[in-house]
Amino acid sequence: MEQEKDLITVIVPCYNEQETVELFYHEMKCVMDKMGEQEFELVFVNDGSKDETLSIIKQLCMRDNRVKYISFSRNFGKEAAIYAGLEAAHGDYAVLMDADLQDPPKLLPEMYNAVKNENYDSVATRRVTRKGEPVIRSFFARKFYKIMNHISSTDIVDGARDYRLMNRKFVDALLELKEYNRFSKGLFGWVGFKTKWLEYENINRVAGETKWSFWKLFLYSIEGIVAFSTVPLLIAAVTGVAFCVLALLVMLVIFIKTLCFGDPVSGWPSMVCIILFLGGIQLLCIGILGEYLAKIYMEIKDRPKYLIDESNL
Ligand code: UDP
Ligand code: MG
Repeated sequence: MEQEKDLITVIVPCYNEQETVELFYHEMKCVMDKMGEQEFELVFVNDGSKDETLSIIKQLCMRDNRVKYISFSRNFGKEAAIYAGLEAAHGDYAVLMDADLQDPPKLLPEMYNAVKNENYDSVATRRVTRKGEPVIRSFFARKFYKIMNHISSTDIVDGARDYRLMNRKFVDALLELKEYNRFSKGLFGWVGFKTKWLEYENINRVAGETKWSFWKLFLYSIEGIVAFSTVPLLIAAVTGVAFCVLALLVMLVIFIKTLCFGDPVSGWPSMVCIILFLGGIQLLCIGILGEYLAKIYMEIKDRPKYLIDESNL
């Protein structure tokens, strides 16, 4: 009896990737040809691209019936695209890949082998260098991972990419997490299971430009912190207690000083500094609180994570 072939779903989020989609397909096709023992399904998720990405994907669909697409009604972000891809995946295995070839498809046979034969549930990739990336960005990225791992119990690996092959169990677990504010790098760690890590040197995009400005990355990092840690709330509370204690001590000092030396009225400038300083701290703490509140607000609205404009699935 012939054994049924495994189906691998490749999920590719695309946002303004007209320069890279075709290149990606060619590279991926070579890998698919090599892995003749497995069947493939390529799911391109067009995340509201404003360029020719969608029409290029449609052309690929006509040439190759393994190519599927989902096209969003607008740009919902990479996290939404990942979720949509995972929801649409029919495969026994699913793999997330960027369209820009920064996630080398040639690693796929090795990844597949690890989940198939070495009893892993997922194979993740991590770049060990960040060469080719702006220095400031690398610096802040490193700091982010350091802080994150201090304040969160979920393991978030420095340099980890979203490039990951998962078995059905892993995919279903991810789909169970229905939160609106998604931070996949944390969710992967949160679901657990056995993960093998592959390491490689950073590769630059083949064409086009990164979709992440420094500001977008900064906001994304806040998303990650709020989604996976409540330590900032604790810091706000602890700061409050610390200042109360400090105030009591200062009161005591003033009390004794007045008793011993009388009370010449002075200290106006220092008073202003203290008021400004404490006002700042208070606003900061309210801001932290607000950040969590905003996330709760978005979650409670329970809006769909994305809207599909068209699809051939
Ligand atoms: N991407 C997306 N929606 C967005 C931003 C990015 O689907 O709003 C996709 C993008 O097309 C690419 C992947 O996510 O396939 C990674 O984006 P990019 O290469 O710009 O990020 P970087 O590799 O620089 O972190
Ligand atoms: Mg990239």
